[in-house]
Amino acid sequence: LVVEPGQLQNGRLLLASSQQHYLQRVLRLGEDDRFIVMDGLGHAWLATFVQSSDALVQAELLEPITTHTELPIRVTLVAALPKGNGFDDVVRQATELGVDQILPVMSDRTLLHPSAQKVERWQRIANEAAEQSERLCVPRLNAPISFSKYLQQESNNLQTPDVLMQKYLCIARGASHHLLDRLQVSIADAASPSIVIAIGPEGGWTDAEVEQAIAVGYQPVSLGARILRAVTAPLVALSLIAAVYEK
Ligand code: SAM
Repeated sequence: LVVEPGQLQNGRLLLASSQQHYLQRVLRLGEDDRFIVMDGLGHAWLATFVQSSDALVQAELLEPITTHTELPIRVTLVAALPKGNGFDDVVRQATELGVDQILPVMSDRTLLHPSAQKVERWQRIANEAAEQSERLCVPRLNAPISFSKYLQQESNNLQTPDVLMQKYLCIARGASHHLLDRLQVSIADAASPSIVIAIGPEGGWTDAEVEQAIAVGYQPVSLGARILRAVTAPLVALSLIAAVYEK
């Protein structure tokens, strides 16, 4: 169960009614059952229900859990919003694959302009995926911004240590290097442990977006000879990153 850090006090957790419903009605946990509580920031505990004097249901944190399910590097996924509800799958799969942060962007060819409620929905999906993957950290979902505005911010940051990040722009045609080759060179060089990977929309990045990204340090990379759907490409890119850095 992912909880807000503010819900945890002195080894106890005050459950929100939706969380109580989930644990007791959906999962059908009883008084003697144990469950895992995560603060989404890298901490987790084994917990159990406790009797409380008031009507509120509380849990007691029994012991910390120290499993290592996080990637050894920080990965940010910058992904242009695909059509329909395709981004739900991107968020779920990216969370399962260990991403640290997800930044939805609207590129020049993005068709979807999401409502504010979408971000809350994606964050819920990330929470659920982190729970099922037994991750200790929940990826942060940023509100969508335009890709060129995001790149503008990147160019303003060029003087900060972020410039050391490995930044990859996936392009379906014309990249001279495969992402896998770039990752293997980076790991051999002990390059920065932070990676940003950017995936375009159904219609692909425009030439201007590719140029602007390269100007702020992105390396154009291929994911292979076939054109992948906008919801498949993040899955492939993140699988390669996990394979290279976890093996
Ligand atoms: N016709 C579009 C084009 O030529 O860019 C296809 C876009 S593809 C459906 C959506 C996004 O997935 C691309 O912008 C790119 O970021 C990524 N992608 C798909 N296949 C790829 C590949 N083989 N190599 C690198 N990136 C790929």
